[in-house]
Amino acid sequence: MTPSTSMPPRARVLRPMGFTPGRWLQSGLRLVPGLSVLLVFGLLARGRFAELGALGWGEAAALGALLAGGALSIVRRIRRTMSGAAILLRDELEFGGTLLAAAYVAVALGGELLFPVVYVLMAFLVTFLSRPAGATLLGAAVLFDALITLPDRWGVFLVRTAFLGLFSALYHAVLSARLAAARRAEEDAVKNKIREIEERARTFRLVSSGADSFPGIKDHEKWLVAAVKEIEGATGSVLEVAETVLKSHTVGVFMLASDDRSLKLHDCRSTSEQVQRERFSAGEGIFGALLKRGVPLRMASASGLKGVTHYEPGGPAVKAIVAVPILEGGGLVRGVLVADRLEAREFSEDDEKLLQVIAGEVLRAIEVERVMSYIRRSRDEKDRFFRAIEELNRAGSPEQVFLAVLESARQVAPLDFCAVTLVSEQNNQRAHRIVRMSGVTSTGRALEGRTFPDNNGLVANVVRYGAPLPGRDVGAMDRQIIFDDDTQIRGLQSLKIFPLVAGSRILGTVVAGSRKKAAFDSDELRMLEVIAIQAAQAVLRAQLYEQMERMATTDGLTGLTNHRTFQSRFDEALATARRYGRKLSLILTDVDHFKSVNDTYGHPTGDQVLRGVARILKETARDTDVVARYGGEEFAIVMPETDAKGALVIAERIRERVMQELFQTEQGPLKVTLSLGVATCPESSQEKQGLIELADQCLYFAKRHGRNQSVTVAQMQAKAPRVAGAE
Ligand code: GH3
Ligand code: MG
Ligand code: MG
Repeated sequence: MTPSTSMPPRARVLRPMGFTPGRWLQSGLRLVPGLSVLLVFGLLARGRFAELGALGWGEAAALGALLAGGALSIVRRIRRTMSGAAILLRDELEFGGTLLAAAYVAVALGGELLFPVVYVLMAFLVTFLSRPAGATLLGAAVLFDALITLPDRWGVFLVRTAFLGLFSALYHAVLSARLAAARRAEEDAVKNKIREIEERARTFRLVSSGADSFPGIKDHEKWLVAAVKEIEGATGSVLEVAETVLKSHTVGVFMLASDDRSLKLHDCRSTSEQVQRERFSAGEGIFGALLKRGVPLRMASASGLKGVTHYEPGGPAVKAIVAVPILEGGGLVRGVLVADRLEAREFSEDDEKLLQVIAGEVLRAIEVERVMSYIRRSRDEKDRFFRAIEELNRAGSPEQVFLAVLESARQVAPLDFCAVTLVSEQNNQRAHRIVRMSGVTSTGRALEGRTFPDNNGLVANVVRYGAPLPGRDVGAMDRQIIFDDDTQIRGLQSLKIFPLVAGSRILGTVVAGSRKKAAFDSDELRMLEVIAIQAAQAVLRAQLYEQMERMATTDGLTGLTNHRTFQSRFDEALATARRYGRKLSLILTDVDHFKSVNDTYGHPTGDQVLRGVARILKETARDTDVVARYGGEEFAIVMPETDAKGALVIAERIRERVMQELFQTEQGPLKVTLSLGVATCPESSQEKQGLIELADQCLYFAKRHGRNQSVTVAQMQAKAPRVAGAE
């Protein structure tokens, strides 16, 4: 709440009626402005005020009276404005008439060239006085002009009347337009403000109504949000009431800080700008005494009170004060409600009672605000939680999921340490891997990628039993082994490990830790648990997706790139080679007499041999090469940045390794050989199809010439130019 300062309108003081000498004098003075105006105009009509040097005593007296009348009407006007009373038509006529008379005198003395002064004055009067007053004065001026100009000087009269009318109309129009514009701007500002407030209110309702789908937010909370909005202004309103009733200089609420040592302004209504807005000691002065005893206090002193601490240094001299403690149920003092006056008019017992009632209201408003802030906080918490869940659901790859788990866990709870582990089963041996981690370990070692066997640590047990651990306070455990003996995290005072449960499977764990004791409340633990559930689903989804992608691009038997993917990756590599004018080679291979392997040992044994050949191809090729299963027992290798000579070296290396390999099968060790064909871009061909056909021709050239050999296009052309002519 922002402290504000306001001043109530002062009530008019009514004077007793009766004809006292003072009252006679007052009535007489009241006539001066009107009479002086009439007198001056009368003299003007009779052609007086002709020359400044030759003013008669009558003219001088009339001028004096006009001056006095003018002064009186100005004083009257100011007094009425200040007291807030309405300005009467008579006041306006007297004020305007005086000015007008003065202007005509100036014209009479200074000559007719000064007449524009009258136009300007009239324009001013018409614009700023009320419409009846302006019209009356304008009419009077025209009448007076007629009186002094007609019937001899019709021309002058008409010109003057026309100009008077024109000036008044123009001035009036311009100023009214500007005033209207200003008023419109102000109205717009007010409208904007209202719209802003409505917007805020709507946001409130939106949050509540949007929350309908979440069973956690109940109806009464929604009601509370709306009610709180209204009660938020309560302190301000009750202070306004107090100010009006008590006729105080300042009435304000000062709240105690949590350490009870200092007071701070919460809200006030004051005529002073010097109310203390900074923290000040709660132990000193009048407030100190009040807080110590916890009972209301009233004081007054004609010479000014000592011990007033709620103004800045050099603040006003307070002569009367009443202060009541703001007491919570149980007698706990929360602050002070104070009212003061600058005149030595003591506050009454009733005033004190009123202030006590108001203190109760203030306390109630503050309590409600406290509830409100709690609701806001929990609403924010829920917002963060739902955002975290959304993030988890958006994550595509396992890597993204792990990162999202850490991020979302950090969003909902104050974590110093967080990790995700995954389980793997190999040959019936269970192992755990820390796939992602944030926060430092006591050794400063990063644990990401670390694997540890199934053991008696917390993570292993969470996976084993599928339930969060530890069940009790970490501090109460003599040793806390989260992962394994080698990877201990020390210094965590709060710890909870949640299983990643997906259906009947437990995929791993989420580890959440904090250096602070009892860092997680029940809400946060529940949110972490839900995040773990969502994370498990996301991990499973991402793993399935990865698996599907792998299946779509690789060959099931050998794990090499499949034919379809080979085609597209060959396209990409060839495009790159052509764009940069680089060499690229293609090797096609075929196992020699493979049919007989199948025929002799059976298909499954043939498969084992194929897997072995694929392994050798993969091992011999470079990482940048694309090794693919091209057909049944045919393989292809795309080799970027490789000329025919280089490709032949690799082809020979592969051929020799396969030739030397003893393939271990269920039927015993087996030996096979390979034939290979090599084509190179750009010399053999620049096209994919051309390269494949040439490599194929080389391969069959090799088959025809004894198998177990590598043949390049150049070699083939040298030995059989007839075949090469096919290109
Ligand atoms: P060569 O190539 O030396 O001329 O003689 P080959 O006996 O190898 O003849 P070819 O390449 O035409 O034979 C391909 C054989 O490979 C036919 C088929 O039985 C076998 N084959 C193809 N795909 C597979 C597979 O996936 N597994 C097994 N075990 N055999 C396969
Ligand atoms: Mg074949
Ligand atoms: Mg073959």
